[in-house]
Amino acid sequence: MTTTTPAYIGRFAPSPSGPLHFGSLVAALGSVLDARHYQGRWLLRIEDVDTPRTVPGATDSILATLDRFGFEWDGDILWQCQRTGAYAAALEQLKTGGHVFPCACSRREMAEVPDSTLARDGSRRYPGTCRNGLPPGRAPRAWRVKAEGVIRFEDAIQGRQEEDLARDVGDYVILRADGLFAYQLAVVVDDAAQGVTHVVRGADLLGSTARQIQLQKLLRLPVPAYAHLPVATNAAGEKLSKQTLARAVDEIAPARALVAALGFLGQHPPTELTHASLAEVWDWAHAHWRLERVPRHMQRIAPAAD
Ligand SMILES: [Zn+2]
Repeated sequence: MTTTTPAYIGRFAPSPSGPLHFGSLVAALGSVLDARHYQGRWLLRIEDVDTPRTVPGATDSILATLDRFGFEWDGDILWQCQRTGAYAAALEQLKTGGHVFPCACSRREMAEVPDSTLARDGSRRYPGTCRNGLPPGRAPRAWRVKAEGVIRFEDAIQGRQEEDLARDVGDYVILRADGLFAYQLAVVVDDAAQGVTHVVRGADLLGSTARQIQLQKLLRLPVPAYAHLPVATNAAGEKLSKQTLARAVDEIAPARALVAALGFLGQHPPTELTHASLAEVWDWAHAHWRLERVPRHMQRIAPAAD
């Protein structure tokens, strides 16, 4: 008997910055249903690379919530806080290839960059000060990737995407001044290590995808397929987060919350499913999931919880 690698490996990768809210539930549900639709594996990764933002107890709370909602992940959980060696090796590979440079610029100096050179997301685009060598007498604080080339990809929900890295993003940090590896590098290294073939996540990360594809190419890693789900917002259009006082989904009965998430994802669950058991909701969801029914929007207002 031969063992075969599944053609589809998906993942859910929450950051432990607070309890699971409706937006994270949507991402978890969309990614697991799409993976199971293709008889694929579904992995879990805790994105605690940004240790200053990690909230004590948040990981336990997220895992308990996923369990209570009936999510079943495959294999062991990958913890980014244990992956520093792999990120360091990737940085060395990028150094060898000449794709990164040390940067001495302080936050204050970056704040003086003129507004005329803002990046696509409104942040200040790096002016290239240290790109061809550190200014005399300056010590490196961080490492940046040279943003080069135009990245094009087809998002399974949001459609064709194109980003000119130098114009739209600018040289970006992968090793921060505080010594921590940046999210972009950690995600790319871990997706490859976990064999992830399909990334289904919130559209708030659509703008990170071109940088991640550039890193995959520079590190000679496979490029997964991408699908970016609409992000859940409150009525004021703000992304649900602890800051916008999003209620933890734990305060809602699991079956009801899952039905609400299915509706948010355009799957049209029947009204009577609201009163069904958790197992019945999962059965319906697995039988009816269609990625092509997910609304092609970057964001949608989350249903009111009651
Ligand atoms: Zn610099």
